[in-house]
Amino acid sequence: MKKAKLIGSLEYAKYRYPKNHPLKIPRVSLLLRFLEAMELISEDEIIKSRQASMRELLLFHDKDYIETLIEAEKCQCVPNGAREKYNIGSYENPVSYAMFTGSSLATGSTIQAIEEFLKGNVVFNPAGGMHHAFRNKANGFCYINDPAIGIEYLRKRGFKKILYIDLDAHHCDGVQEAFYETHEVFVLSLHQSPQYAFPFKRGYLEEIGEGKGKGFNLNIPLPKGVNDDEFLYALENALNIVKEIIEPEVYLLQLGTDPLLEDYLSKFNLSNIGFLKAFNMVRDCFGEGIYLGGGGYHPYALARAWTLIWCEISKREPMDNLTNKAKELFHSIDFEEFDDVDRSYMFESLKDSYRGGEIRKEVRDIIEKAKALVLNV
Ligand SMILES: [Zn+2]
Repeated sequence: MKKAKLIGSLEYAKYRYPKNHPLKIPRVSLLLRFLEAMELISEDEIIKSRQASMRELLLFHDKDYIETLIEAEKCQCVPNGAREKYNIGSYENPVSYAMFTGSSLATGSTIQAIEEFLKGNVVFNPAGGMHHAFRNKANGFCYINDPAIGIEYLRKRGFKKILYIDLDAHHCDGVQEAFYETHEVFVLSLHQSPQYAFPFKRGYLEEIGEGKGKGFNLNIPLPKGVNDDEFLYALENALNIVKEIIEPEVYLLQLGTDPLLEDYLSKFNLSNIGFLKAFNMVRDCFGEGIYLGGGGYHPYALARAWTLIWCEISKREPMDNLTNKAKELFHSIDFEEFDDVDRSYMFESLKDSYRGGEIRKEVRDIIEKAKALVLNV
């Protein structure tokens, strides 16, 4: 029988980003503590995260880059020339214990998730999904690209039709570049248009792959203010396009929570119920996959959304009210809202109301263009 497993560790709390960084918030450790406070997980469902080995890291990254991450972390400084060469030591990708130890733990966890999945279990690695890192460069708060390493690991195990789906509010530029010229990996991403959002240079509809990979990359860049109905409309259509092109042997799903309305680093307006529906839409289409975390900068929104994902895979019907213990936990987190909106509902209930609405013409147009582009290769 399939068992639900969550790969995680409270240790992530030790490897945080610096105090002025959006990722300074507790994420995986908060999720674990929240699930416990809500009584929605049992000890035997947790697999403790392990570090990635150097061999695993080198499945995708260059050795000199990884060695520089290790060196920078050790001295807590930027080695000569590394700022320009590897894009570290900036506000975006600062020096901290997240840069190697934390990232390598998240990557080891993605390999663990894949191994558990191949044993027949249903697995979620909330620390994974660091989709921006390049082969030899940090990018967008990411140093080690665990999805790319996971995909290379699967290819080494003989998989030749791999699908990667990314629901994060930001385009997965690191993953796209890694597999842009191969037909063995199809990359699908729904995200804020790079016309107004990070990573700006990548994520346009016209980027459909090159060489053998032409037609195996699908970007759905969306306008600001996307609601649940629009996101689900775009996803359903995108999945239908993908199904016409490949029948994947396995897929990875990146579940960054920044498309949620509360997240202050994105301009989408999803509810966690819409997010959960998107998750189930992918599963209805391709069966169980390997589930990874991703971006997400609002700690309560993140913990609530990933809790719903966990309940879904572990076949639990969560109660809607937060327990007193869970409320206390949220109140103990050092986090301040950036705007003046009343978000006290997050301390009361687990589920948002569905945030549907009109499906704008520009969203429909993007889908029509995507069909024309990718299905005519
Ligand atoms: Zn993101």
